[in-house]
Amino acid sequence: MTKRIVAFRRLKPHHLEQLRNHFHVDYFDTLEGPDDPAFREALRNAHGLLGASLPITPELLDDAPHLEAISSISVGVDNYPVEELTRRNILLCHTPDVLTETTADTGFLLIMASARRAVELANMVKQGQWTSGIGESHFGTDVHGKTLGMVGFGRIGQAIARRGALGFGMSVLYTHASRKPALEAELGATHCEFEALLEQADFVCVNVPLTAETTGLMDAAVFKRMKSSAILINIARGKVVDEEALIEALSSGEIHAAGLDVFAQEPLPGDSPLTRMDNVVTLPHIGSATHETREAMAQRAIDNVIDALEGRRPPSPYNDVTPRG
Ligand code: NAP
Repeated sequence: MTKRIVAFRRLKPHHLEQLRNHFHVDYFDTLEGPDDPAFREALRNAHGLLGASLPITPELLDDAPHLEAISSISVGVDNYPVEELTRRNILLCHTPDVLTETTADTGFLLIMASARRAVELANMVKQGQWTSGIGESHFGTDVHGKTLGMVGFGRIGQAIARRGALGFGMSVLYTHASRKPALEAELGATHCEFEALLEQADFVCVNVPLTAETTGLMDAAVFKRMKSSAILINIARGKVVDEEALIEALSSGEIHAAGLDVFAQEPLPGDSPLTRMDNVVTLPHIGSATHETREAMAQRAIDNVIDALEGRRPPSPYNDVTPRG
């Protein structure tokens, strides 16, 4: 029997061809939401599901009685009810590693852009407002030699820290992660309590996954603890930060600036105060968005679903479920 998969993220012809060499593929290149009747109908017969950015609910899983594997084109799995999938014996796969360096590049871009006010000042030039010499009111703040505080110190956090420590001579603190002696030796990184990191870091960089424990982790009390000169970087997920508290902290001068790739609601609504604040750099969730990395992520997701549905251990399983084959 040829197995059936539902693919719901825009894929290139060569990706679809690979999938069609193994499966019957129901392809939805512009799926807006989970209630599309054709999508729901296709799910009824699907053994595999491949895509990203769509919250998968238990109710949706009820409509997919034959599902064996889900292959997410992302490293973060916050859109999936992981325990429920495991309970239903559905294997979840994701795409770690292939996006680590690119996402770390984006993190460092946010560090540099927010410290040196690059977007604000580039806009000034483009709008014809560079009419006299640059004075103190346009100065930024140094990055090199400063203290980088990593909230979460996994693949991406470590890659950002490596850039900071080895490229910019930064001191690295980390918290909300298990001790990493090898990295402490390599980067001179120091494990510390959350409060100590908040009090010392010049850049507080959020790299934890979105889970029940990390939702709203960066709240008003956290911003109060940070230095008034500190810059918050969020490359993880918007809901790790209490966005209203952040807006308040940025407006009142409790913290200096922010560089954000992710938001509580995406796309970021045009009327969000964050869009109007000069001390905030806002990117449209482009952490992994390069040609090379998106290709690698799609390929990893395809390899995952092919192996999972053909009974082999895939390259990047997330939960502990044996492929059925
Ligand atoms: P990772 O290797 O799993 O690292 C996660 C880090 O967070 C680890 O240090 C982990 O601690 C720590 N952590 C703290 N609290 C945790 C909790 N409650 N549950 C699990 N881990 C917790 O992940 P990664 O590959 O670096 O990716 C991190 C996150 O970045 C992803 O989950 C995703 O949401 C986000 N991301 C965003 C973009 C973007 O486009 N902006 C792109 C890729 C990823 P231990 O060290 O003790 O395990």
